[in-house]
Amino acid sequence: MAYQTIYPYTGELLETFENHTDQDVEATLTTAHNLYKQWRNEPISSRRPILQKVADSLRENADELASIITHDMGKLVKESKGEVLLCADIAEYYANESESLLKPVPLESPAGEGYYAKQSTGVIMAVEPWNFPFYQIMRVFAPNFMVGNPMILKDASVCPKSAKVFADIVKEAGAPEGSLTNLFINYQQVADIIADKRVSGVCLTGSERGGAAIAKTAGENLKKTTLELGGNDAFIILDDADWDLVKEIAPQARLDNAGQVCTSSKRFIVMEDKYEEFLEILKESFANQVLGDPMDENTTVAPLSSKSAQTGLQKQVQMAIDHGATVVYGNEPVDQPGFFFMPTILTDITPDNPIFDQEMFGPVATVYKVKNTQEAIELANNSSYGLGNSIIGQDLEEAQKVALQIETGMSWINSAWGTLPELPFGGIKNSGFGRELGELGLNAFVNEHLVFVPKK
Ligand code: NAP
Repeated sequence: MAYQTIYPYTGELLETFENHTDQDVEATLTTAHNLYKQWRNEPISSRRPILQKVADSLRENADELASIITHDMGKLVKESKGEVLLCADIAEYYANESESLLKPVPLESPAGEGYYAKQSTGVIMAVEPWNFPFYQIMRVFAPNFMVGNPMILKDASVCPKSAKVFADIVKEAGAPEGSLTNLFINYQQVADIIADKRVSGVCLTGSERGGAAIAKTAGENLKKTTLELGGNDAFIILDDADWDLVKEIAPQARLDNAGQVCTSSKRFIVMEDKYEEFLEILKESFANQVLGDPMDENTTVAPLSSKSAQTGLQKQVQMAIDHGATVVYGNEPVDQPGFFFMPTILTDITPDNPIFDQEMFGPVATVYKVKNTQEAIELANNSSYGLGNSIIGQDLEEAQKVALQIETGMSWINSAWGTLPELPFGGIKNSGFGRELGELGLNAFVNEHLVFVPKK
């Protein structure tokens, strides 16, 4: 497995990173496990200033770090900077809140007095994707650092520099060796780490294929797992939607990060009397996008992360068309050297079209026409995925009622997808299990240790 930075805007190979050996893996496991034991005797508060320093460093170096992310996987530099600043917020949130959130929880029982303590469990193996090279690491690193679970990181092979630099920042902030170790390793080495008895859990964000492989190894070795996988999120526009809001947020809900977001709105569900109007809105916006240099502040749609992402998406769109989908806009070659994909709108996707139940990871919107809210709910639920969704409607009570009928992990009302440090993030069905961020994310790899004194 080659860890390489290939700049998606030009296709140029910028840097190659050497793989770590089995000896490096063994040394990492030993250091991390020793740190776990050391941390068990140290108060949580001792780690707080280090995490705060990580946050400060991210803010101070945001421009430089944003450029590294952009050169690794191509996203707009303004999006990269937003990601770095969000990571600072996540670090700060866990630095400030963990001590109180990890306090023992008293239990009520007529049989005696008890509580459960929240304790660390050991070394965690984190396998992370390329679409948010810093944010995905921070979501799991910050909470586990405060809990006292050292982390070994295997990041996507297309964004090695971001992973290395992230680990360097943590080290420079004063974190002890073993707190976060980035390794350039192959799948077998990942499996070996998961199987090692010094490792207590594994988290993966990525595809269903990657998630299933990791979960299989974790299951065989009885290791706790969290999986954050793909999505085919619905964007449901109810009868009473505010159309100024729809116009403002719908295109970006699909196009941000060049459409490579697990929670991008991928299926727009519109009442039949507004269907044509919605298509016009989306078409006009897609036609006005500026594809180009991701380092240029005026560019609005970045290249995809890799050549294989581009060819894979093209195959999916072609498959959709071959099975009856209509191209309302886009799907034309982009006259640029990098891995660009023209923003595209597809309609007439029937449930027997294989694309109906597949995630497309790029700037391709699918639009569906429904007769009423009930039909919208049924269509949204007719999916193997259940990650997020947006409900747009002015009657907030009704919008929330609709949201609760969707089989999904997250619902945003009158908003495009989003993420905040204090809000739990995750899905159901093939979108995975477990939650990251917020209090739930902090507890993902905690031992809820019961201590009970029965009445005499
Ligand atoms: P991927 O191919 O599964 O890769 C994700 C990570 O897993 C990479 O580090 C990859 O390494 C590694 N990996 C894959 N198979 C592995 C195996 N058998 N053993 C060990 N490591 C393995 O996913 P992707 O295509 O890069 O990422 C995009 C997917 O992530 C999309 O489906 C997206 O929706 C999902 N995603 C979900 C969330 C969420 O929070 N739910 C957030 C972001 C993205 P290599 O790079 O070396 O192959």
